[in-house]
Amino acid sequence: MTTALLEVEDLQKSFGGLRAVGGLSFSVQRGEVLGLLGPNGSGKTTALNLVSGALAASGGRIHFDGRRIDGQAPHHIARAGVARTFQLVRVLPGMTALDNVQVGMAFRTAPAFGAAARDEAMALLERVGLAPRAQLPAGELTYIDQKRLELARALALRPRLLLLDEWLAGLNPTELRQGIGLIEALRRDGLTIVLVEHVMEAVRALCDRCVVMSAGLRLAVGRTAEVLADPAVVDVYLGR
Ligand code: ADP
Repeated sequence: MTTALLEVEDLQKSFGGLRAVGGLSFSVQRGEVLGLLGPNGSGKTTALNLVSGALAASGGRIHFDGRRIDGQAPHHIARAGVARTFQLVRVLPGMTALDNVQVGMAFRTAPAFGAAARDEAMALLERVGLAPRAQLPAGELTYIDQKRLELARALALRPRLLLLDEWLAGLNPTELRQGIGLIEALRRDGLTIVLVEHVMEAVRALCDRCVVMSAGLRLAVGRTAEVLADPAVVDVYLGR
């Protein structure tokens, strides 16, 4: 029997009277790229926040690599191997790109120090295409470069699961192609990825399977091409 890397069962989250996530179940297989789709307000970011521990669930269970993680603190979940990026980029603007990545490394179980930390951080910047700007303050980087930096910082945790919250949003066509290429490379390296994404070109290029949410519930799940052709899915996206 193969067990999924991430197993989400009957996950629930209410904010006061509002059910943001109302009993969501899905699994993510090792090495897979799973798209989490749905209109604005359907509960996608809340679902990511529940998986990463930023929010406590009102009900349900989350297993990562066979271990229950719901109810654990975000840093425990990060150390277990779950990293994420945020919809609004959160780099430390006054620190250099290189230092930002080293801060990310400090959060993992086996932090690196000194020259080893610096070399590893440089290698991560190289991987995301930021090495030439390693010494620039993060706040002076362009939008796409801040996104690259945020990705490098997430990778600094040496995650086994990467959660990307609209990481490709707001990029121009050239940047989008580069961004898709970068995620493809991570996937080739064996990283398991969940991406919340509205950019359909990216969803089609990257996602093996998709889960579509609507009003906090799972509307559809399956292979990307099939899900995107599902009339119920087309319906919730109409007018977008
Ligand atoms: P999506 O990511 O699909 O756009 P969200 O998960 O951000 O959706 O939001 C789902 C619903 O939960 C929305 O109605 C949103 O207004 C509500 N919501 C999200 N976060 C909070 C919060 N911290 N407090 C109250 N309501 C929230």
